[in-house]
Amino acid sequence: MRAPRWSAEEFATRLRNPHDRVALGRAVTLAESTLAPDRALAADIVAALGPPPRPAVRVGLTGVPGVGKSTLIEALGRHLLDSVESRRIAVLAVDPSSTRTGGSILGDKTRMATLSTHPRAFVRPSPAGGALGGVAHRTREVAQLCEAVGFDVLLIETVGVGQSEIAVRGLTDCFLLLLLAGAGDELQGIKKGIMEMADVLAVTKTDGANAPRARRAAREAANALHLLRPPEGGWLPPVLTCSATDGTGIAELWAKVEQFLAHQQANGQFQLQRQQQQLTALRELVRQELEARFYARPEVAAAVAELETAVSQGALSAGGAAARLLGLRGVN
Ligand code: GDP
Repeated sequence: MRAPRWSAEEFATRLRNPHDRVALGRAVTLAESTLAPDRALAADIVAALGPPPRPAVRVGLTGVPGVGKSTLIEALGRHLLDSVESRRIAVLAVDPSSTRTGGSILGDKTRMATLSTHPRAFVRPSPAGGALGGVAHRTREVAQLCEAVGFDVLLIETVGVGQSEIAVRGLTDCFLLLLLAGAGDELQGIKKGIMEMADVLAVTKTDGANAPRARRAAREAANALHLLRPPEGGWLPPVLTCSATDGTGIAELWAKVEQFLAHQQANGQFQLQRQQQQLTALRELVRQELEARFYARPEVAAAVAELETAVSQGALSAGGAAARLLGLRGVN
């Protein structure tokens, strides 16, 4: 049976009650829907809720599969919930490879046993399917909704495989890169580009026999970082060590994130970055929509396959084909 369709006002009234998980789940489903009327309702809900009751912070987390993201989010999340009694946290994800049925990050809620059942926490896997841009956009909408509802900290996880980091960087205030001690050269190569985007870095699994290796890896990463980038706006990204299993360094890690956020607030970058992110998202959405409308035109749809074949066979230049497509009658 289909759920009754609440109005934006009805949603807002329910969502002001932090215990109404049903309303929250439904509103989030609307925000990440691929259907335009659903997304419009989600936007109306955000508008009906008004400005967030408290300013929220968005922290992105990345690292190669197996680095310990889920386990750290559980440990960090517990620390966040325990250290401030009224604090609410949401855990979201951007994973373009995810499907609802599994295989995705955050799919394994057993690593987030506390967070997935805690009354002040909300854990949501990545919106399923589609291109990265679309998935990231839907997570942005969900983030906005979570802020309007009153979540204070949003942790946004992504897989450490390249483009998705850039997408998550574009919707967070602080970007946290997790490193694995003893990762091979290939892995270090992947990290390099991402290291340049990180605000705070941490070597995970600094416990037991692995602890000395992890500390050495942190020193090496700090040295590499010195060479890689000069401190921007007075902030040199620190490289910490932590263990999600024994809790070492978790409070210190969050303290560093807060220190970075305070630094950003003090020099005006926090607001500026958010504004720029919103403008980039706006332009990107318009671009995507125009492109979709363009390709949906019957004249374009009829010509595109033939022109693409001609380009791939070298019979026509890419520029020539683009000019023909854009010049089709009915398009202008
Ligand atoms: P993800 O793929 O990055 O989300 O990594 P997971 O959180 O799933 O962790 C991968 C593996 O590393 C699991 O077997 C965890 O139990 C283990 N692990 C995660 N954090 C730690 C840690 O702090 N110390 C140790 N020793 N193992 C950890």
